[in-house]
Amino acid sequence: MSYCVNCGVELHPTAERCALCGTAVANPGRPVDDVSPKPYASDVQPLPPNNRAYIAGLIAALLSLPVLVCLTTNLVVGGDAWSVYPIGGIVLLWVLVAVPLLLPRPLPLVAIGADAFAILVYLFLIAALASKGFDAGMHWYLELALPLVLVASAVVLVPVAVLRRRKLDGLRISSLLSTVLGFGVVGVETTVSIFDGTPFRLSWSWIVLASFLAMALALWIISHSPRLQEEIRKRLHV
Ligand SMILES: [Zn+2]
Repeated sequence: MSYCVNCGVELHPTAERCALCGTAVANPGRPVDDVSPKPYASDVQPLPPNNRAYIAGLIAALLSLPVLVCLTTNLVVGGDAWSVYPIGGIVLLWVLVAVPLLLPRPLPLVAIGADAFAILVYLFLIAALASKGFDAGMHWYLELALPLVLVASAVVLVPVAVLRRRKLDGLRISSLLSTVLGFGVVGVETTVSIFDGTPFRLSWSWIVLASFLAMALALWIISHSPRLQEEIRKRLHV
């Protein structure tokens, strides 16, 4: 039996290289057996062609069934246009799943933008059909739903955009997320306060922001100090 001189894994008698790390097998006492069959296939099977558009189409076909059921029931039973809500929700679900599948390559910023837009369109529909009237619906949409979706999108988009430009380690990613989330919470309180019509004053979110920023700063300092990281590792026994 031979073992890899680099990583120590057990090697198959027919292996010329370590299957794990690629190091050439070196065992003068046991030459490589090139007569016995290898434990894996030697020919490479081509991967099936990109069928992501097909999957998106298949999901659309499957989702069209509940859409048809809702629409038919609404038309037969009558009443107000309640089917708009479930149908809108199903279309939204399809957009969330299908957009990443239909993009020619991974484009997270485009996918997140499309998702946010689809959510805003669906919420607009709900607001426009509000039972308290169009004006009340628009008040809710423009002063609460729209800003909240924009704040949530920014909280997701900013870290994704930064990580696409710069490679950060785990500590710096956590620091970035902590900062963005802190400001996101301030955005939520600001929005709710404007919607309530109360004079703008931060009452609780600044506490969250301050603690998130303190955590972000601590993580950033630790990420720049290998000595601190070593010390924490020793203390936590990791
Ligand atoms: Zn190896």
